[in-house]
Amino acid sequence: MTRVSLLGIPHDENSSYLKGAAAAPALIRRELGSDAYSSWSETGFDVAADLLDHGDIDFSGDGDPWERIETEVGRTLDAGHPLISLGGDHAIAWPVLRAVRQRHRKLTIVQIDAHPDIYDVYQGNKRSHTSSFARILEEGLADRLIQIGLRTLNDELRDQLERFGVEVIEARHFSEDLRLDLKTPVYLSVDLDGLDPACAPGVSHREPGGLTTRQVIGLIQSIDQPIIAADVVEYNPNQDVSNLTALVAAKLVKEIAGTMIKINGAA
Ligand code: MN
Ligand code: MN
Repeated sequence: MTRVSLLGIPHDENSSYLKGAAAAPALIRRELGSDAYSSWSETGFDVAADLLDHGDIDFSGDGDPWERIETEVGRTLDAGHPLISLGGDHAIAWPVLRAVRQRHRKLTIVQIDAHPDIYDVYQGNKRSHTSSFARILEEGLADRLIQIGLRTLNDELRDQLERFGVEVIEARHFSEDLRLDLKTPVYLSVDLDGLDPACAPGVSHREPGGLTTRQVIGLIQSIDQPIIAADVVEYNPNQDVSNLTALVAAKLVKEIAGTMIKINGAA
């Protein structure tokens, strides 16, 4: 039986505007475990029964948090199951992908986001959550990066996207029948601000004009390559309304896990 590992990464020190995402993992877990909701994915798997929860990474000690993330994600991956990590802000994707790439020679990143997170540096911070994908591509941590839902581009960011050869599907060009031509295993990175703030208000940078929850679920369910690992990041409970965004995050976790089990289990 295919199981899915879960790992909390409660870290938001590299958020540029608002802190809060460090509190996300516990709140998303609460919705995942709530008796109010079905534990099944739409695709027919009792996901709650298949989740193997490795708890949260502990950042209380000394040492570089980036090294700790890389080590702990590596250890979790070595348990042999696909992994869903709960952020934290999007900065964590860099050390997470270091661990993933070490174990996977072929990798395509599918990123859902309002922002490309590809500034060379932001506010003097190379680890900023607005720069993580510049670091990821500089280090060659993926063969391909596909970003979906962008709606915050400026000239500098367009130059960066071109320089790194990123494949971009801006929100204004999104269509329901979008099918990604995937040829390698996938790392799926879900920044909750890729969704419209009407669907997911609990984020640090609300950007109107985003994808609906239904469209993001459709994208997840359309992935036809094994999903090695995924993250769900940027949930900021301080900005949420009635825990709605935590519930959306939990729903996406269930659908990602359901897709992992379906594809990886059949492989
Ligand atoms: Mn992001
Ligand atoms: Mn974003």
